[in-house]
Amino acid sequence: MNYSRVPIKHFEPESRVKSLDVQTLVPYGLEEVTAEASRCLGCGLCIEGCPARIDVPGFQIAVKNGNLEEGLKINFEKLPFVGVCGSVCPHPCEDNCLLDDNKGPVATRHIKRFISENVEDYRQTLDVVVNDLGGHPRVAIVGGGPSGLSAAFYLSINGVRVDVFEQTDRPGGMMVHGIPDFRLSRNTVQKEADHVLSYGANIYYNKKIGRDVKFEELLERYDAVYIAIGNWKPSKTRTPGVELKGVYHALDFLGQINNGKQIEVGNTVAIIGGGFTAFDAARISLRRGAKKVIVMYRRAVTDRPGYPSSNAEEELDEAEEERVQFIWEVTPTQYYGENGKVKGVKYWKNEMVDRGTGRREPVPIKDKEYTVEADTVVEATGQKADLSFIPEDIRKRINLTPSGDVIVNQYNMTSYPGIFAGGDVTNARKDIISGVADSGRASMGILFYFKDTGKIENVPAKLINFERGPYAESYYL
Ligand SMILES: Cc1cc2nc3c(=O)[nH]c(=O)nc-3n(C[C@H](O)[C@H](O)[C@H](O)COP(=O)(O)OP(=O)(O)OC[C@H]3O[C@@H](n4cnc5c(N)ncnc54)[C@H](O)[C@@H]3O)c2cc1C
Ligand code: SF4
Repeated sequence: MNYSRVPIKHFEPESRVKSLDVQTLVPYGLEEVTAEASRCLGCGLCIEGCPARIDVPGFQIAVKNGNLEEGLKINFEKLPFVGVCGSVCPHPCEDNCLLDDNKGPVATRHIKRFISENVEDYRQTLDVVVNDLGGHPRVAIVGGGPSGLSAAFYLSINGVRVDVFEQTDRPGGMMVHGIPDFRLSRNTVQKEADHVLSYGANIYYNKKIGRDVKFEELLERYDAVYIAIGNWKPSKTRTPGVELKGVYHALDFLGQINNGKQIEVGNTVAIIGGGFTAFDAARISLRRGAKKVIVMYRRAVTDRPGYPSSNAEEELDEAEEERVQFIWEVTPTQYYGENGKVKGVKYWKNEMVDRGTGRREPVPIKDKEYTVEADTVVEATGQKADLSFIPEDIRKRINLTPSGDVIVNQYNMTSYPGIFAGGDVTNARKDIISGVADSGRASMGILFYFKDTGKIENVPAKLINFERGPYAESYYL
């Protein structure tokens, strides 16, 4: 048997940068996916690496045996966004794979994508039986991103009446407003969002809680609330010149382009930051016609967010293939301009200092200032939760971390009984799979809460109940 990983091919970088929606990775064919799934040794080490604890070897075996329907069901026990995660999950499971040091980890993410793209009708395949818990309480979900929608799915298949309030005009959250189409197809998001909502949850678009509906009303009208608002407040720097025309925060920049706005980026774009938002802003700039894109990050390449991981390597490879340039270890000192329009970035070089605190710290060397010219500057310098929609008297009763994330217990309940939270607003990883894992724990927590408060009679052993099919171990056994 050949134990080497079946290579994942890329579409030609020269042609893919000409379009906003040509995918980067070529999907596996049937022979390739069968060969790759056959490499799995079934040890299960990867399960610990997955924030949602998906039964990875279970679905590899199903795929190896040609049973994609079973592969889909095994994923659904923990993940209603199989195609989304098959495209963009940072796949920490692969970093745990026993074969990682040998011939390459089993390509779990790419196999997942094959399943999702080759099972036509999720609903018919899953054959879900709605659990009868002896009651139909109501839950309001604030936010229609992956965490809110996953909770809507798990709760509605347990007979709970769910209303989702979404401030934008579409489902998906950062899956459609942040992540570009060339990494995550909009058809995949739409197909999976439509499916999760097909079990009876209502979604109200253009309804911002705090503006169109008061948060207090949700507490009055519903038996529990799940806050899944993500991190939508840009953290801008105070770099002089940040107010110049042509300087954007990455969330605005990506959000506008992802919503069809024709931003003119000019010839040269400088991106400030080093996480996946920076990489997406860089690559989307090329697709908006930039000839040169430079990512400027304050730390070293080996200290960038997500490093070391196979995902961070892949991200860098894909960007370098497209000729994105990098200047590591720099501190911008000024965005300079002319007539109110940005012309470039002045910066110091940094040295990386080990103070014995874990991560090396960037310290600017201030004796010389450098310059790069830029027609557009994009700050990919982070984002935070905006909890201003919660009235002060209620917010005071919800414990927050010093950085403003919501603190939750093991069932994702906040310190305010009946208010649950999950996704980017609570977890440290701030990726899709972690937000989905939160929604599973929160859904179970909400059902326990309903049992305790007499709203339902039973709590199911598992959130999802297939008419026929596999069961992975539950979150809570
Ligand atoms: C550019 C970029 C690239 C990324 N790339 C990846 C990647 O490759 N892989 C990965 O796993 N993760 C990636 N992420 C992170 C990922 O998108 C998030 O972790 C994930 O979307 C969080 O899900 P969520 O449901 O918590 O929040 P979100 O997806 O942010 O959804 C929150 C929803 O709540 C709505 N909302 C907010 N406030 C209100 C309100 N007051 N009333 C009503 N609605 C409200 C928002 O409109 C939004 O739809 C990326 C993020 C960005 C920005
Ligand atoms: S760690 Fe790798 S070899 Fe082991 S079960 Fe997971 S995918 Fe298979």
